[in-house]
Amino acid sequence: MTFKDYKYERPDLALVKGQYEEKISAFKTATDAQTQIDIVKDVFKLMDKVDTMGQLVSIRYSLNTQDAFYEQEMNYIDEISPELQNFVNEFQKAVIASPFRAELVKAYGQHFFDQMAVSLESFDEKIIPFMVEENKLASKYSKLLAAAQIEFDGGTYNLSQMSPFAQSKDRDTRHKAQLAVSGFFQSIEQELDETYDKLVKVRDQQAKALGYESYVELGYKRLGRTDYGQQEVKAYREQIKRDVVPMVQKLNERKKARLGLDALKSYDTISFLSGNPTPKGGLEWQVDQATTMYQELSKETHEFFNFMKEQELLELDSKKGKAGGGYCTIIADFKAPFIFANFNGTSHDVDVLTHEAGHAFQVYQSRNFINPLQRFPGYEACEIHSMSMEFFAWPWMPLFFKEDATKYYFSHLAGAISFLPYGALVDEYQHEVYQNPTLTPEERKATWRRLEKTYLPDRDYADDSFLEKGTYWFRQGHIFQSPFYYIDYTLAQVCAFQYWIRDHKDHQEAWSSYVDLCKLGGSKGFVALMKDAQLNSPFVDGTIKKTIEPLMAFLDTINDKAL
Ligand SMILES: [Zn+2]
Repeated sequence: MTFKDYKYERPDLALVKGQYEEKISAFKTATDAQTQIDIVKDVFKLMDKVDTMGQLVSIRYSLNTQDAFYEQEMNYIDEISPELQNFVNEFQKAVIASPFRAELVKAYGQHFFDQMAVSLESFDEKIIPFMVEENKLASKYSKLLAAAQIEFDGGTYNLSQMSPFAQSKDRDTRHKAQLAVSGFFQSIEQELDETYDKLVKVRDQQAKALGYESYVELGYKRLGRTDYGQQEVKAYREQIKRDVVPMVQKLNERKKARLGLDALKSYDTISFLSGNPTPKGGLEWQVDQATTMYQELSKETHEFFNFMKEQELLELDSKKGKAGGGYCTIIADFKAPFIFANFNGTSHDVDVLTHEAGHAFQVYQSRNFINPLQRFPGYEACEIHSMSMEFFAWPWMPLFFKEDATKYYFSHLAGAISFLPYGALVDEYQHEVYQNPTLTPEERKATWRRLEKTYLPDRDYADDSFLEKGTYWFRQGHIFQSPFYYIDYTLAQVCAFQYWIRDHKDHQEAWSSYVDLCKLGGSKGFVALMKDAQLNSPFVDGTIKKTIEPLMAFLDTINDKAL
């Protein structure tokens, strides 16, 4: 069977409701632990069935945002998803109140109860109308961006297709490409401002209705963060400001010298005068290289990648009407990971085949977990799998990049280090926004620009007055669609760096620890998973500095001016 044969049937809300009611009532009246354990299993199956349909709709809609049928189904799923959550919520309340808690913990683990606690604390029936509104606004953001038709150099392009111009070797082309993209965002500025303003307010209303001071606490719970909070994240951001920002300034100095420039501008997105490293072939060729790579890396990756190809679970090409960005998800009833991307001829394409494939590899290792909540861990732990796979793939990069391989190594590592302050900026910005929900759109932009100067002191927008007023975040979808998610990438990056170090010391040790971590899926919280994998926690002061110093030393061994 292949992906196109996976059958979609609209979930019948009344039917699903009846099934949940029956299970919940049987659970409550059960007189022994085993009956309850079995009912939990049945409810997991029910959750999977409904979720499978939701995934099929959302994948097929993202493949073609002009498809009227799936657009309608997407709206329907958006509409009913808060009610579906309500059924799950009622069920979780019953489980938490069970007199057989010890037996249930034994069957499904303590983390299952921790997850239910944060889930219950972040939901109540009375906030359903707000959640419906929030879903619609978040979809509107995707739609606004997917509709981009940017006139450039005699052609018309979507945002993803503008990437090669923005990374051109020719400085003037890069500069004009940045201005063209800014021009597009300026043309929808008012709609984006309104959409975001409504999102902030509707999230704040939900938080207040649930008794929280601000959306910050609720946002953390929604992300399923069970074993760390705002204090840890704040302390982590402080390490980035103190230890990483100066390192990135050093990397920027090297880049300026390498590019032979008097001053770096925001459009100097290339790493090398001779151009950024690019894959030396098209989409199919790259998939062939990935096939060789995963075959040679391990038996686990070989089996996994064959499965993805046979079931046609890789949708990689950039097409008109296709939603932007990339993601990996799982279609539960088919035990099938799915990878969505927009290839554009840059090194981004290889990142998809390593990064998104890392996510897919992990969920493939956890596909037999019966608890749907535990097939994927939290986002921060998920990104350890993907970002570490990027590093485990290093020995095969010459296959993709040929003579550009050293360039790739340098820009991959330097880019990953330079990313940390940006990630922390996105996070601190959102804390400010949700702690002060009455800020006007103009005040928000000023806040962004102020924080940008702390985290990215070298960022110079030159004559791009639109970005200069603090609008860069318009292009950061997470800020609209997944509040507080972004810092997770940086937390995971610090963990993945540790796998880079371990892989260079002892490949077998590092790889088997990584596969074990993938197999743990979401059965534990982030801090607990790091402990099992013997990763140093980024929340502990000094960890980031200690982790990055060997990477900076490695970068020092490369004569970047010769690249
Ligand atoms: Zn990822």
